[in-house]
Parts: sequence; structure tokens; C-alpha cells
Amino acid sequence: MSIKEKTTTQDADRQPVPNFIRTIIEEDLASGKHKGIITRFPPEPNGYLHIGHAKSICLNFGLALDFDGVCHLRFDDTDPSKEEDRYVQAIIEDVRWLGFDWHDKLFYASDYFEQLYEYALMLIKDGKAYVCDLSVDEIREYRGTLTEGGKESPYRNRSVEENLELFEGMKAGLYPEGSRSLRAKIDMNSPNINMRDPVIYRIKNCTHHRTGDTWNIYPMYDYTHSISDALEMITHSLCTLEFENHRPLYNWFVEQLPVPSYPRQIEFARLNLSYTVMSKRLLLELVEKGIVPSWDDPRMPTLAGMRRRGFPPAAIREFANRIGVSKADSLVDFDLLQFCVREELNKTTNRVMAVLDPIPLTIENYPEDKFEEVDADNNPEDPNATTRKLSFGRELFVEREDVSLKPAKGWFRLALGKEVRLKHAYYITLTRVEQDEEGNITHLYATYDPESRGGWSEDGRKVRGTIHWVSAKHAKPIKVKLYDHLFTLADFNDVEEGKTYLDYLNPDSLIVNNKALAEPSLLDAKPGECFQFLRLGYFVADDHHTKETPVFNRVVELRDSWAKKSKK
Ligand code: ATP
Ligand code: MG
Repeated sequence: MSIKEKTTTQDADRQPVPNFIRTIIEEDLASGKHKGIITRFPPEPNGYLHIGHAKSICLNFGLALDFDGVCHLRFDDTDPSKEEDRYVQAIIEDVRWLGFDWHDKLFYASDYFEQLYEYALMLIKDGKAYVCDLSVDEIREYRGTLTEGGKESPYRNRSVEENLELFEGMKAGLYPEGSRSLRAKIDMNSPNINMRDPVIYRIKNCTHHRTGDTWNIYPMYDYTHSISDALEMITHSLCTLEFENHRPLYNWFVEQLPVPSYPRQIEFARLNLSYTVMSKRLLLELVEKGIVPSWDDPRMPTLAGMRRRGFPPAAIREFANRIGVSKADSLVDFDLLQFCVREELNKTTNRVMAVLDPIPLTIENYPEDKFEEVDADNNPEDPNATTRKLSFGRELFVEREDVSLKPAKGWFRLALGKEVRLKHAYYITLTRVEQDEEGNITHLYATYDPESRGGWSEDGRKVRGTIHWVSAKHAKPIKVKLYDHLFTLADFNDVEEGKTYLDYLNPDSLIVNNKALAEPSLLDAKPGECFQFLRLGYFVADDHHTKETPVFNRVVELRDSWAKKSKK
């Protein structure tokens, strides 16, 4: 299936939100500047993708889809000390999972190492690059500040011959790491610090996950990125705002070198999400310190974590669509993401019953040895949905939370003498309860109305409360993991002095429930399959779920705080 068919059928009702990048593209196509567009998503394989990357992926691949263009997947693999093949594989899996396809347009910056080297030689020969012997710290010192110009390196005026020889030596591995670098010769007094003779090659004695030990020198990001874009004939090179000040340098390289095209760099605001840290460096730290067991822990803002958490890719695409694209940094409410997840799961999941905190209930006027099957619809939102049979009998379990011995006004659930509906089954009335010495309820007793089968009665009497239940004889124990935010702080700009993000870990970000009981059909769930547990929320069968050891993760609660907040 082509990406076009795939994505447009998946998101048939997506209304692209207008934004300034779309406007630029429309103008470029209208004026004939470009006949078609080529975008790219350029991850560095030094960690897993997170929800911020999803914004960039949906933007780049989405524009290509909407304008009949092409989007490349290009690994920016220029720092072998931090990059690994397993990250390449994880990123490939995540972009696919999100629903996008690059066809045969999969590239690596390392594909261009030879070409980049040739271009560097050209810059040297043109007197536009030189080998510098200052250390990293000295280079920083010489660079000056935002208010003060920089100082020229004493090595700036080496002859072309000497530069060529030294650069060859760097390439051949003659010099130790950090002893020399190749720098562009631009302007040490430029008001833009990025233009003050930036380093374009450094010595690194590392094995690269693709090129092995072929290279002892590695090109820097700005140099590599602009040239890679130009070589791939990228028309619109979209990046986040922190690269705005790098744009003159991006353009400088493209202008100095005989590259085949002149891409336009356009910056947009990165996604920040409440209760979430997004930098790969911090996410790596969470894994390395053992705060979460893995990159794909369901609490992580990684795409792999969100997949395990049960967030559908369509919900993430809709989220990216709704947050839009702008030039202004902002903090997006995590509830909006959950809202999109809920909307999607509401359409697609089957409704089932499970009880998280079970309390036994006996229907005393129901025959002891009798069982019957009641019909349950699987998804009231889906006109084609099927029904299933549920076993009902005298002994049930209901939710502890659904019982009150001192019901407040407006309590419609179980209370002595009150009639409630057991979903899909009968009306029951709570008649008495057993309690332990501490007053905890240990057993409920009720009577049922045999005339109310299916959960309604002919006399039309009003029963406001409907509760879920499972049959004691048929229910199966399941393990349930209840996830919450990893952090208690909404906005990481508010970290107090002397504290770090690690001081805001939420001790209750994972609660494991080992007493839940579910209707037996749940044992047959496939890992990754999502359900609505009636009245409780959406749950997904964990990656490690099996019939023998059933495990479900809570995806999201049913309560919709975002819609409420945004109406206020
Ligand atoms: P991090 O800071 O998390 O390490 P990065 O920008 O270093 O992210 P890259 O792999 O270099 O990660 O990013 C690939 C692309 O994703 C870049 O074009 C980058 O601008 C974009 N991107 C990264 N984070 C975000 C974000 N929070 N919102 C939008 N786009 C992002
Ligand atoms: Mg980066």
C-alpha cells in the first residue's frame, strides 16, 4: 500500500490546520519555484524517538503527503561516540508504526562522508577553511560573547598547502583527539557567534556503526546537515527554533560549495508537553539510572513507550495535527494528548468488564446452581459491532468503590435499599452487608428482579445507577498496571533553585494491581490489543501478556479533564 492510500484512509477525516510553513510551500508551488516538494526527517540515532519527534515526523511526512511530495528519512549519524545501530532500528520501527513510509528514500549522513571530505578539501583550497590547533576550550575562549567580538586563531592564516597536509594527517589518524580541528574561515567579528569560524571537522577515534574504522575525522552537524539537504535536493528543510541562528551558516555552506540545490531552512517551535521531559539526554539518564527499566517503559514519552502504553498511532497523528505549527514556544497540556487517545479508542475498542477492587456479592433470591448467559454489546459506538455472551449467576464480584453505606445525595450506585442496574443483566437491590472488625465491607447481599433481564423493566421505573460486575465462577485474575505521569511538575521551567528534574519524580507513577478480576474473554487478548474496561478506562494487553500470565496496562482513564478545562 502506498503512503498516500495508507495515511489518507487512516486519517480520512483529518482537516489539515493551516500554518505558515504550508503557506510558504503553497507560494513556492504557485510561483513555480518548485514543481514538487521534498522534505526530510533527520534523527540522530543516539536514543529513541519521543513525542516531540512525532511532531516533526507528522509535519514533514504530512506535508509530503498533502502536497504530493516526498519525505526522506535521513539518519544524522555524525557522532559515533553516542550513536548505535540499535537506535537506528528502533527509529525505523517507530516511524513505520506512526504510519509513515519513506519508500526507498532512506539515507544516512555517513553515506556522504566521502563527498563531505571532498567538499572540505575544496574549502581549504579556496582559502575558506583551515586546520586549527587550539583546544576545544581555547576555541570557546577565542570565540567571544554575544556582546564582544571574537579573537582570530593564531593558526588562521596557514597556507593552503600546510592546511591540506595537516587535514590529510587528521584523516590518516596521525593526531590525537582534540589536538586539531578543521574550521571554516568566516568572520571572528560576526554578530552571529555561529559564524565565528565554526569547527567543521573534528578528530574522533571511535568505531562508527556503519563506516567502522574507516574515518578518524567526523564532520560537524551544521556542515553535514546543510550539505546533506542540498545533495538530496530537499526543498524545505524544517527544523526547530534553536537552529534559527544557524541558518546563516547553513546558507554559507550551500553558497560556497558546488552542491546541486539550495534548500530553504524554516524553523518552527518545538513541542513541550506538561509533566514531560523530552530531551534524549535526560531520557537516556532515566534509563541508565534505572528510574525506568527501559526506553519503552509505558511512562516514557518515547514513541516505543507510548506504543506499549496503548496510545494508537492515529491518536498521535491527530494530536500533532491539533497542536499545529508556529514560531512561538509553548507548553502543550498532556491532557490534550490523552483526549486524542480517548477519542480514537472510543471509536475502536471493545467494551469489556473487569473489577479492579473486587468485593463479593451474593444475589440471595437467585437459584444456587443456576447460570445463564446474557447478551453484551461490544461497542455501542460502532454500528457494525458484534455482541458476546456473558455468564451470570448468584455469586458475583463488584467494585468496592461502587458501594456506600453512607450515600451522599446524588449517589446512584450500591447503597442499602437502593436499586441499581448490573450492566447487561438485571436490577438488584442491596439488602445487607457483612463487615470485619474494622468496618471494612467483606460481603454484599442483594436481591434481583427476574423481570428486569437485559437491564430494563416493562414498568419503566427509573434506575439511574449502572455498575459493572464479573461472575465469581467465571472471572479470571489479571494483573493490571496503573500508570500516571512520571513527574509531578507540569512545567520544567519551574524547577526550583538547587533542584533538578529528578527531584520531581512521581512516587505513584506505577501502581501494580494484583487483585483485579476480568471476564474470561480477556485472556485471549493479543499483546497490544486495547479495550475499554467499562466505567474504568482504556486498557491495553501488555507486550508480555499471555493467557497464563495476563497483564494489562491502563492507557488512560475515561474522565476527560481536557475537554472540561478547555470549555471553562
Ligand atoms: P533531543 O533534544 O530530544 O535530543 P534532538 O533535536 O537532538 O532532540 P534529533 O534526533 O536531532 O533530536 O531530532 C530530529 C528532528 O526532530 C530534528 O529536526 C528536530 O528539530 C526534531 N525535534 C526534536 N525534538 C523536537 C520537539 N520537541 N518538537 C519538535 N521537533 C523536535
Ligand atoms: Mg540533535
